[in-house]
Amino acid sequence: MTEVDFDVVQIRKDFPILNREVNGKPLVYLDNAATSQTPQQVINAIVDYYQNYNANIHRGVHALSQEATDKYEQARQKIQQHFNAAKVHEIIFTSGTTHGINLVANGFSSLLQKGDEVLVSAMEHHSNIVPWQMLCERTGAILKVIPMNEQGELVMETYQNLLSSKTKLVFCNHISNALGTINPIEEIINAAHEVGAAVLIDGAQAAPHIKADVQALDVDFYVVSAHKICGPTGVGMLYGKEEWLKKLPPYQGGGEMIAEVTFEKTTYAELPHKFEAGTPNICGGIAFGAALDYMNTIGFEAIAAYEHQLLDYATTELSKIDGLKIYGTAQNKTSVISFNIEGVHPYDIGTILDKLGIAVRTGHHCAQPIMDFYKIPGTVRASFCFYNTKEEVDALVAGVERAKNMLVG
Ligand SMILES: *Cc1c(COP(=O)(O)O)cnc(C)c1O
Repeated sequence: MTEVDFDVVQIRKDFPILNREVNGKPLVYLDNAATSQTPQQVINAIVDYYQNYNANIHRGVHALSQEATDKYEQARQKIQQHFNAAKVHEIIFTSGTTHGINLVANGFSSLLQKGDEVLVSAMEHHSNIVPWQMLCERTGAILKVIPMNEQGELVMETYQNLLSSKTKLVFCNHISNALGTINPIEEIINAAHEVGAAVLIDGAQAAPHIKADVQALDVDFYVVSAHKICGPTGVGMLYGKEEWLKKLPPYQGGGEMIAEVTFEKTTYAELPHKFEAGTPNICGGIAFGAALDYMNTIGFEAIAAYEHQLLDYATTELSKIDGLKIYGTAQNKTSVISFNIEGVHPYDIGTILDKLGIAVRTGHHCAQPIMDFYKIPGTVRASFCFYNTKEEVDALVAGVERAKNMLVG
């Protein structure tokens, strides 16, 4: 393979957890699609917050509160710049992707009517299926599914045919967490807009690999979680076009989200606070900003090139194992490999790999409809991050060989 110039040895030094052992073996962490590890720079931002300026934001006149508010709002600006939102108040802090989706789905309850149609792709995470089903139950709207093919690619002709003047909303992930497919979201967004439908893109799995430009995409909503991009858990962002965020009602009531409260009537705060009831995850928001700084310092082009190299190498090496089948062979995919070995339950492979210090995911990956499509109970999923190495891929391949020999005999 042609080596790309990427100093992975140096980068690994930023991640203290990568030095630990599991079951007496060096940790090989290949569960990055579930959550990424945290670099020292982000850990430092978290420690700095609690050591030096922990205070509630937007409320106090005192110095600590000011400092915390400034840092939190600076983080919002970093997120705005990163995703190229036109306005800073189009960035809503959430607790993660799931929260962002629910906020939008809930808001559309008052905008949809019986008989309206919403389209969802066949390869969604449960968090991008269930809230829309609940929305349809509340409103009488109809949920329709954009199908996928054997390779794990959406069938775009069928999508075009499903669109009509009845379509009000389209939901799709940018990258599938179970298969790694990069979906043609530009095409999806443009076609939806032709019939006047709004589009929400679940960017949870794309954010670690691709720097999305929400203005260039012309997307209506884009959601991500910080914990998949080297940030902490429990924080994320919802980008929404200003016109949509103004139209949607607040999701939760509470402090921070109001302009004026009397028992007769409450008026809501301006964006973004209208959607940010209660004390937020202040430290998490600040650490989210630090995580974006960290990743941008490495650079998304360098990350993509290196991860692609790992993906190609791992795909080639795993494919040499007799009886191993890879699910998700899209032309355009990122560093996720879902696979099974004939006659073996994925869980058994995962358990043996764990004994060898190798962390992979097994199961349906919160995407049960994909497993039903392939008529399998689940897969083993190895997902690579820019801090993984070729040697770790070798360890995985050797581990899978070993598991196969033990289980198939
Ligand atoms: C991880 C993931 C989610 C859910 O993210 P949370 O942080 O658990 O809210 C949703 N969609 C995709 C594609 C994901 O990978």
